[in-house]
Amino acid sequence: MTRVVTPGEEIGHAKVGIPGVNVLVARRKLYACVWGVVTTDEDKHVNVLTFKEPRYPLKGDLVLCRVVNVVENLAELHCVCALRGKLVQFNRIFTALLPRTQSGVMGDMRAHFHVGDILLARVISIEIAPLTVSTRDEELGIVSARCNRCDLFMRREDSWLVCPECGTRRKSRISPHYDPARFHTIFMSLYERFE
Ligand SMILES: [Zn+2]
Repeated sequence: MTRVVTPGEEIGHAKVGIPGVNVLVARRKLYACVWGVVTTDEDKHVNVLTFKEPRYPLKGDLVLCRVVNVVENLAELHCVCALRGKLVQFNRIFTALLPRTQSGVMGDMRAHFHVGDILLARVISIEIAPLTVSTRDEELGIVSARCNRCDLFMRREDSWLVCPECGTRRKSRISPHYDPARFHTIFMSLYERFE
């Protein structure tokens, strides 16, 4: 059976094995030094092996997601990765909801967010599926958008997205990191790996 231990937790009497990786011996007992799983190898070494980086969304994560549906008071998103100092790809596509109350915009969500927009969002709840995310913080919001008519990347003008071809404008929640070509490439390269 897999046993998960926390730092400082007693693993057992020193008789059960030789302290190995991430294990200390004190007063004839073995203790875990890190969070992890207890294993015993063939030559009786007791080890605590740390977890790999979680490949699923964690509360507080900054995630990159794409709008797949929008109704009046919420947007449905697909999340593919977290930015934890580096980019961590999830083990599958996670569906998330962005409620209007967490979006930083007022009125009908359909006026602000369109299918295909790529957002930088914060995970605020993982308790119940799907996840809930927010774009209320200053740095969050749309990082890539294309014109519905021309399919060209839209330019940012203050809090407006503007099509360089047909001039279509839309006021939205735009991230200061807005860089449509770059985020489109990053997102789609990850998204296509799941298909
Ligand atoms: Zn256009």
